[in-house]
Amino acid sequence: MITAQAVVYAQHGEPKDVLKTHKYEIDDDNLDSNSIIVKTLGSPVNPSDINQIQGVYPSKPEKTTELGSSEPIAVCGNEGLFEIVKVGKNVSNFKEGDWCVPSAVNMGTWRTHMLCGSEEMTKIPNPEQSKANGKPNGLSINQGATISVNPLTAYLMLTHYVKLTPGKDWFIQNGGNSAVGKYATQISNLLGINSISVVRDRENLQELIKDLTEECGATKVITEEQNASKEFGSEIKSWLKETGGEIKLALNCVGGKNSTGIARKLSNNGLMLTYGGMSMQPVILPTSLHIFKNITSSGFWVTQLLKNDMELKRKTLNQIIEWYENGQLKDAPSKETKFNSNDDLSKYYIDGIVNSKGGKQLIVY
Ligand code: NDP
Repeated sequence: MITAQAVVYAQHGEPKDVLKTHKYEIDDDNLDSNSIIVKTLGSPVNPSDINQIQGVYPSKPEKTTELGSSEPIAVCGNEGLFEIVKVGKNVSNFKEGDWCVPSAVNMGTWRTHMLCGSEEMTKIPNPEQSKANGKPNGLSINQGATISVNPLTAYLMLTHYVKLTPGKDWFIQNGGNSAVGKYATQISNLLGINSISVVRDRENLQELIKDLTEECGATKVITEEQNASKEFGSEIKSWLKETGGEIKLALNCVGGKNSTGIARKLSNNGLMLTYGGMSMQPVILPTSLHIFKNITSSGFWVTQLLKNDMELKRKTLNQIIEWYENGQLKDAPSKETKFNSNDDLSKYYIDGIVNSKGGKQLIVY
């Protein structure tokens, strides 16, 4: 028997009020032939996990009594990295020691162990396998645990909708310092696309600009004030002139005036994809941009895009894995906290949620 812990909620609400630890047993001596048992290597706290607990996220896990609870509960967390500890006798796609990530969302990744069907997990190479395949690097726990959402989001937004010509064209984004934003910057750099990242002003702005340009390969980094300034528009036009390209794509995770600013920079027929709303303000778009520049404003939700397209998910995952293995892509760093199995698991994630305002939190096991 494996004694497992999971962070669960029975009612939606503020995480500190509704999260608790549920302990349950997994019978590893009587494993169903098509099932697998995995242990968690790491799972992050993402903004959508918090919204899900609060009950304000459209995709929600079903609450059940499957884990032996007295009332229906749901296990928190959507992303994570797992290692196979046992496979059923008919399972051919996994063996002990393999690494995997959930094939879909809502699997409940904030837990120590999971019993699931083998098709519910997608294999990714563990470091020994990468090495055996002649790759210079194996994936780190952070890279594996955060691979399913942010890098895929960045890659798909940059490649799936608008054809950007390498060496010429540009995209603009706000939230340039977000995890998704940093992936988008690095990936655009790998694809030869020019980028403008809008960031909030801060005391160490020059340090941030240096980091985004030198470490992530951002072409240009501007502040929210510059994004809002009419005068600064001529500076941006001069950058475009240098490459002979256009800003055909805007990525918006902030909303409010910030989104107006980036939409204004789009060329005729440009597209703005809204994938987040960090300022909690609505997207504001001047009528003239629609009529005279024919810009399109659309939403992006990685969950919905990949839900019924496993082939696109596998293809995108493979590309991100390859860049990680070749050392071409850096993961957005997380603050890692190691779980001590004598402790109460929910406390780690409740602290992680509080601390996530200061950067991405990853609980490692
Ligand atoms: P991070 O926690 O890494 O970053 C959050 C970013 O938001 C930071 O850059 C922060 O700026 C910025 N920010 C916070 N509040 C404000 C504000 N009031 N005004 C301007 N900027 C603000 O987040 P992630 O990269 O994990 O996620 C970013 C967004 O993308 C979230 O909304 C998330 O839900 C969404 N998302 C959506 C997906 C989809 O499929 N639709 C998939 C993945 C993520 P600063 O550095 O200045 O603090």
